[in-house]
Amino acid sequence: MSQRKIIPFYAEECQEFFELFFVDKLSQLGWGNFFIISVERTWFIFLKSRTESDLLKLLGFLNTRMNLTEDEAKQYLYLKKGYEGEVAFDLLTAALDCEMYILNDLMLEINHSKFQIDSSLIIQDTIFPCEIKNFEGNYFYKDGEFHFCGAKTPITNPLHQVKRAETLLQQYLKKNGFSFRIVPYLVFINPKFFLYQAPQNDSIIFPPQLSSFMKKLNSKPSNLNGMQRKLADKMIADHIIESPYPKLPSYEYHSLRKGSTCAICSSFHIACGERKVTCKDCGFEEEVESAVVRSVEELMLLFPDLKITTNIIHDWCGVVESRKTIRTILKKNFKAVGYGQWSIYEKM
Ligand SMILES: [Zn+2]
Repeated sequence: MSQRKIIPFYAEECQEFFELFFVDKLSQLGWGNFFIISVERTWFIFLKSRTESDLLKLLGFLNTRMNLTEDEAKQYLYLKKGYEGEVAFDLLTAALDCEMYILNDLMLEINHSKFQIDSSLIIQDTIFPCEIKNFEGNYFYKDGEFHFCGAKTPITNPLHQVKRAETLLQQYLKKNGFSFRIVPYLVFINPKFFLYQAPQNDSIIFPPQLSSFMKKLNSKPSNLNGMQRKLADKMIADHIIESPYPKLPSYEYHSLRKGSTCAICSSFHIACGERKVTCKDCGFEEEVESAVVRSVEELMLLFPDLKITTNIIHDWCGVVESRKTIRTILKKNFKAVGYGQWSIYEKM
């Protein structure tokens, strides 16, 4: 391994991209969520993935299929924006070429307290937990609090979030016998963010400082040894999968708009051909099988207790005329329980 480049694996599209181009060189190692891809003499190490949370996916589906209340729509946009900010940060760290481990979107627990870290960079003897904020517009800082211009009350203080994560991470490292230094950062990623009376605080990175921040990280002397890997592995193993959802909009099967939607623009204007479905709005084409599988997964997330049958999926997808086609796709991609037309399908 003469040169090693480590980049975060933040989205399924990214994996598809690499598989498409480097499929012959892809070798998946059997530990954690790490993939190592060799491209000529450069090595990429993909660490813990960042994908949309189930809650964000679910709200996105509901936003397409029903009218959300103002509060629900707000919650959805807030989560969506946060996720987009994190992905934007991943793109920046992806360009770094010093040796490091990057772990995205970790939820850990210590002494019955859970804490979340948007992005953790492990370089040499230091861990840099980064809290990413995708705030947009004008804010001001007064008496230690952040305010949105025009709002009466301060927002949840992101510096307190950073401090809390740092304290809990400290306890976590100590309990697990690691002696890494912790240098936390609060990163404002959106170029349209402005903070009046900003505090002079080295742990806050404002949008115009992002490129020098990346340069600074890149210039850190780094030589990965087993210790960093051990820590990365431990944190990935301890990652807590999202707990049950907070307040969700109320919905039921019959109240949702049915029909397959476009994978790109979520439009319901889909035409189904023999092999492909085509979006009449954006022109995106997708294999029928992939569109049906996507619809089934959506339905499973929306209604975890619903028994998935050919008839239900025929009704849910709407555009696929042939029940036989649906049954074939279900049989191929899901586990059938029972026989014939009474079969129900579950995740493999
Ligand atoms: Zn479309």
